[in-house]
Amino acid sequence: MNKGLLIVVSAPSGCGKGTILKEILKDERFYYSVSATTRDPREGEIDGVHYRFYSREKFEQLVSENIMLEHAEYCNNYYGTRGDIVEEMRNKGKDVILEIEVQGAMNVMKKCPDAVSIFILPPSVKELERRLRKRGTEEEEVIAERLSKALDEISHANQYKYIIVNNALEDAIDDFRAVIKAERLKAEYAGEILDEVVKNA
Ligand code: 5GP
Repeated sequence: MNKGLLIVVSAPSGCGKGTILKEILKDERFYYSVSATTRDPREGEIDGVHYRFYSREKFEQLVSENIMLEHAEYCNNYYGTRGDIVEEMRNKGKDVILEIEVQGAMNVMKKCPDAVSIFILPPSVKELERRLRKRGTEEEEVIAERLSKALDEISHANQYKYIIVNNALEDAIDDFRAVIKAERLKAEYAGEILDEVVKNA
């Protein structure tokens, strides 16, 4: 069995990343990596589903044991990805998806050059603004803050291997699947297939 891919996905909020991933994850070949955090669970959040909720002590211990693939501190709480679980799932042939912010993604790319990094863009910042307003739940100030954060994140998009523009949802999902298909077809993953083809020649 071939080892699964490591897929890193980032996007500013309002780009439809959640909807795209929900569709992609219907295929059981993928495994969604649940991040670890030291923040308290919000209402409705389930341990092991939305996050792995750890104490600061436990998180720091995992960092010191080099078990975290990447981690960052945000609003006085740690967030990170458990490298041991990522490896275990990849070894089982699963393509592991990390949904993390830009800094975390950069750290993973440095550590794992084979990671398939994907940045999802809105068709335009104007359109992103329209989508954020359409949600109707956000104050003007929050919208302005999100837009400025989005612009900062977008400035790193060219450091990813792939960029997908979410103009029409179906097309963005097709593009995502095309990226994964091409990655799986790379010669470096074809060792076993090659052996099989030339067997008994
Ligand atoms: P929240 O507390 O709102 O769920 O998340 C706060 C921030 O932490 C978001 O920007 C989110 O992208 C980031 N985050 C969530 N999981 C991880 C992770 O595993 N690693 C890193 N570096 N950031 C994460």
